[in-house]
Amino acid sequence: MTSQMTTPMTTQATMEGTVALVTGGSRGIGAATAVRLARAGADVAFTYVRDKDAADEVAGRIRALGRRALALRADSADAREAVEAVTRAAEGLGGLDVLVNNAGVGLLGPLESYSLADIDRVLAVNVRGVFLASQAAAGRMARGGRIITIGSCMTQRVPGAGGTLYTTGKSALVGLTKALARELGERGITANIVHPGPVDTDMNPADGPYAGGQAALTAVGRFGTAEEVAGAVVYLAGAEAGYVTGAEFSVDGGHAA
Ligand code: NDP
Repeated sequence: MTSQMTTPMTTQATMEGTVALVTGGSRGIGAATAVRLARAGADVAFTYVRDKDAADEVAGRIRALGRRALALRADSADAREAVEAVTRAAEGLGGLDVLVNNAGVGLLGPLESYSLADIDRVLAVNVRGVFLASQAAAGRMARGGRIITIGSCMTQRVPGAGGTLYTTGKSALVGLTKALARELGERGITANIVHPGPVDTDMNPADGPYAGGQAALTAVGRFGTAEEVAGAVVYLAGAEAGYVTGAEFSVDGGHAA
């Protein structure tokens, strides 16, 4: 047996000493990302709105990994709360190194179905909240800071009707990410966007009425998991991704292929 074979497999905690904030971290992709960041060594704050029990459960999983956790009730649709979440995370955990803009709402339907309130609500959460959190976070980040935004495969390929509002908002995040990369590059802060394909979460269950159609649109013929998206986010959050910025990163099972 070689010495290599007798060496126990360990996961290097490369993010030890860093602080991350994940918006919308109580369920789905955000929860998986929060826990994976903690597994990589980060202390993690995350926001939620409705489901306190789910938030407490995620906080417990982070603490079980030996990391500090902060569950913050903060609605990204509310401009003040979106900014305060950044302040509360940084003050509560002693700084901010990573922002993951994950909180988002999905609203699909025919063009004529959207009310002004629908448009304002979706753009407030999916765009304005992301802008404000990024603005507040960048002001607190030192060199090595990371802003990672969750976009959507719909920004690259709209496979059918019903996505006008959602795609408008998510596409704005591509522009924001590139502009942030240019603005923050000299300060050593990167900005990237991850585009998930159909991922099995409460927002888009793999056993939902439209699931089969979505899976068939991917090259691999299946939904992704929240953990598969979280893995890409954690890579972009880490030191190894220091030369990656302004990039669009598809984790979509080949939806855009
Ligand atoms: P889920 O609906 O499963 O989870 C959403 C999370 O965001 C929950 O933690 C929820 O908290 C929180 N949240 C919702 N609204 C707000 C708000 N206004 N302010 C703060 N937190 C909020 O969603 P997913 O995990 O599926 O989606 C995560 C991101 O990925 C979204 O941006 C989505 O658009 C994007 N995405 C998802 C895809 C998919 O197929 N699932 C595909 C492409 C992109 P609470 O529990 O309190 O409600």
